[in-house]
Amino acid sequence: MQPKLVRLSQYFLPTLREAPAEAQIVSHQLMLRAGMIRQASAGIYSWLPLGFRMLKKIEQVVREEQDRIGAAELLMPTIQSADLWRQSGRYDDYGKEMLRIKDRHERDLLYGPTNEELITEIFRAGVKSYRDVPKLLYHIQWKFRDEIRPRFGVMRGREFYMKDAYSFDINRKAALDSYNKFFIAYLRTFARMGLRSIPMRAETGLIGGNNSHEFIILADTGESQVFCHRSYLERDGMAVDDSTLEARAAAVRDWTRDYAATEDEHDIEAFSAIPEDDQVATRGIEIGHIFYFGTKYSVPLEAQIADESGANVPVHMGSYGVGVSRLLGAIIEARHDEKGIVWPAAIAPFQLAVINVKVADTACRAATERIMQQANNAGFEVLYDDRDQRAGVKFAEMELLGIPWRVVVSPKALATESFEVTKRRSGVIQNLGLEAIVPFLCKQFGR
Ligand code: ATP
Ligand code: MG
Repeated sequence: MQPKLVRLSQYFLPTLREAPAEAQIVSHQLMLRAGMIRQASAGIYSWLPLGFRMLKKIEQVVREEQDRIGAAELLMPTIQSADLWRQSGRYDDYGKEMLRIKDRHERDLLYGPTNEELITEIFRAGVKSYRDVPKLLYHIQWKFRDEIRPRFGVMRGREFYMKDAYSFDINRKAALDSYNKFFIAYLRTFARMGLRSIPMRAETGLIGGNNSHEFIILADTGESQVFCHRSYLERDGMAVDDSTLEARAAAVRDWTRDYAATEDEHDIEAFSAIPEDDQVATRGIEIGHIFYFGTKYSVPLEAQIADESGANVPVHMGSYGVGVSRLLGAIIEARHDEKGIVWPAAIAPFQLAVINVKVADTACRAATERIMQQANNAGFEVLYDDRDQRAGVKFAEMELLGIPWRVVVSPKALATESFEVTKRRSGVIQNLGLEAIVPFLCKQFGR
């Protein structure tokens, strides 16, 4: 858990007035300007306190939605032995994207770009029978892929943070239900982050298999060319019934009925059949990717379980990735204005920013402390600008950081019993008495 009250005088927030020239897209510029990340080397970043705080927030939303569908969290290592990858045949297929390492005994190791092999081995050693499945397992761990062109900050890094989940089932029918569970969990995960994600038919690439969707958010700066029906721009990812196997299948059918495909899977004829006004051809950012690949790994890695007749059969598998670190960039791409970031309230680093314009003043300090205490007690996270700085600088920085609500404490506010409470997104100001501030915020957050 991150602290609920942070004082800027004690924090480490190296903000920048100007965007560094190397940052080409707005999310990268804003992450650098807001002091969230710092490049260590090409495509590899240090996460400064504010960036780290956001990474943990996003990770937690992802985790809660995985737990909700009954997936069990574990943690696999970043470094893997090459042996399993030779068994699956991917040691050679992966090519130069895989970072290969030798230990002191000249044994081949690698920094994991993904974990199908390792999880299959873990499953194989622990599960023997159809009675033990389905099993849904996930971890949230750093990955390394030696991308040819790392760029756009955390959006396409070489080292990046990913949630990867794996499903194990007795047959194809059961495996497709696991697939549907993740499909719906992803709709909910991204909706909670204020993102409208669109599940698009996708190529299966190096993971392999025959059923795959990429979850895409539309953005001009996205790296993928995507095509979909306009209906997806109005769908609500939270309003999905996933209570039974049939409900899940119906929900996924409903969400895949209209046309939505990435460039590799694009069917020009089918797309042209859509009324022209409903055709959306644009660019998008891939934030999640799910695959059903059957027995592609369980056959070479000999992960078998006994079916009802006692015969050993290879287990049916799927894998499900979310780019946790990429999501930071994606959310900022979707949620910013000319002043800076505009975090969705549900995942903001703090819900409330408190600016004390006269920190030397005893009465201002006392009022500030009172507001923060009440806000903390009500469950809000507060960022307090207690620095001895010009008010204009403080206001601009808070706007850059994108905290949903801001309250200003000043001698004038105290004298008039009227404090300015400003909503970051709309800029609308409320004037409230000191004791009314936190109750007002509670109402805004439905608490
Ligand atoms: P891409 O097509 O963007 O290279 P991928 O198909 O290689 O992605 P997956 O193997 O499906 O990616 O990985 C799961 C998720 O991890 C992706 O949906 C994406 O959000 C994220 N991801 C993949 N590569 C990177 C990267 N280089 N930097 C940051 N996030 C990444
Ligand atoms: Mg992909």
